[in-house]
Amino acid sequence: MQFYSTNGLSPHASLEEAVMTGLAPDGGLYMPERIPVIPRAFFKNISEMSVSDIAYIVATTVLGDVIDAAELKQIVFDTFSFDIPLRKIDNDIHALELFHGPTLAFKDVGARFLARIISHFTHPSDKEVNVLVATSGDSGGAVAAGFHRVPGVRVFVLYPERGLTAVQRHQFISLGDNVYPIEIMGNFDDCQRLVKVAFVDKGLREDMRITSANSINVCRLLPQTFYYFYGYSQLLRSERMDRNDSGNIVISVPCGNLGNLTAGLIAKRMGLPVSRFVVANNINNPFVRYLNEGIYAPAKPVRTIACAMDVGNPSNFSRILDLFDGDHEKIRQVMKGYSFTDKEIAESMREIYNRDGYILDPHGSTAYRALRKDLAPGEKGIFLATAHPAKFPDIIRQITGLTLNENKAVCCEVRDHHLTPRITPSLAALKKILLTTT
Ligand SMILES: *Cc1c(COP(=O)(O)O)cnc(C)c1O
Repeated sequence: MQFYSTNGLSPHASLEEAVMTGLAPDGGLYMPERIPVIPRAFFKNISEMSVSDIAYIVATTVLGDVIDAAELKQIVFDTFSFDIPLRKIDNDIHALELFHGPTLAFKDVGARFLARIISHFTHPSDKEVNVLVATSGDSGGAVAAGFHRVPGVRVFVLYPERGLTAVQRHQFISLGDNVYPIEIMGNFDDCQRLVKVAFVDKGLREDMRITSANSINVCRLLPQTFYYFYGYSQLLRSERMDRNDSGNIVISVPCGNLGNLTAGLIAKRMGLPVSRFVVANNINNPFVRYLNEGIYAPAKPVRTIACAMDVGNPSNFSRILDLFDGDHEKIRQVMKGYSFTDKEIAESMREIYNRDGYILDPHGSTAYRALRKDLAPGEKGIFLATAHPAKFPDIIRQITGLTLNENKAVCCEVRDHHLTPRITPSLAALKKILLTTT
């Protein structure tokens, strides 16, 4: 399997090049040169398979020719050290709980898989690999935990000065060792832009090996396809359906940088039998506006209670365009978008809590609300519950009155950690830190 750049100006890359550089030299994002269709036989027994078994088959279909089978199996089984249960919310709606990993967000899946793939390509004699990650909340913790104490790797977490909860910040600030947080005097888009300019800076690349652990890295994206198949498998099991009467499945995705949605679209191309997707945004909604109006207008993000989705210029937009040859009509045929205010997101959280005692986090709530609004009679819906509510104790308390034990979210005790520099979002300032951290 080779990978091409969405900008079309760089040569095709091997998996190793695509993973180790993160972004293509022309500034585009890497995509697999073909999206293989999984043999139909796979779906026959899918409802009896574990998440690891399913993930292994999907992984082999995509990467089987570039990573040895036994090793790929180990990587996949190590990635899924936790379960991803499907939980019934309404008669026709289930939540896929992606938040039972070590940092309580779905990003654990991509980060753990990527960390293992990078280790696979890192040889003891090589220069250190520097992993840069911009975080709007959950990536930082997931990537830091995934790479913590991995030999030969240093992780730099760029986070915006405002917007993260204390728990989210704690997850990467408290690690120390090879994990270096950097506070950026700006918003998430500034962090993301800074990571991108660092990648295409020739001088920096000559001085050090750098790669990205954001969803721009294709090995964070690919493992996210796995759990869509697992969600499907559990739905068949819990609803006693088989493949033949599973025609009307709709999946709702709470979207920020559009990585999760892109993975879902790739899964559909691989043969996942879902009929369409629902896209859920908070009021930072450039993609939903694009769906509805056909015009893409990036905007400065504003803060919301679903803060991991406060993204004004989602990086995976270019991958979605690429998947559909830039054809707006084709894109609209497989998805519909909704955006909600904080008040609406909170309303759904309160409603479900009062009815069932079940706590949705603000991101899952956004996806639930969009699905509830859109699902037609006869359809079955799954929404992705992307973060554990314990990551947002203040918001949960304000909305439901419930006080959560915050310890659940604090994955690691505080130990000696690095002093956290605070810099302007400029390449010069970032370079100085990267080159002087020893
Ligand atoms: C990152 C994140 C999202 C957005 O996912 P994308 O793949 O960036 O669209 C949604 N919910 C939570 C909890 C997140 O951490």
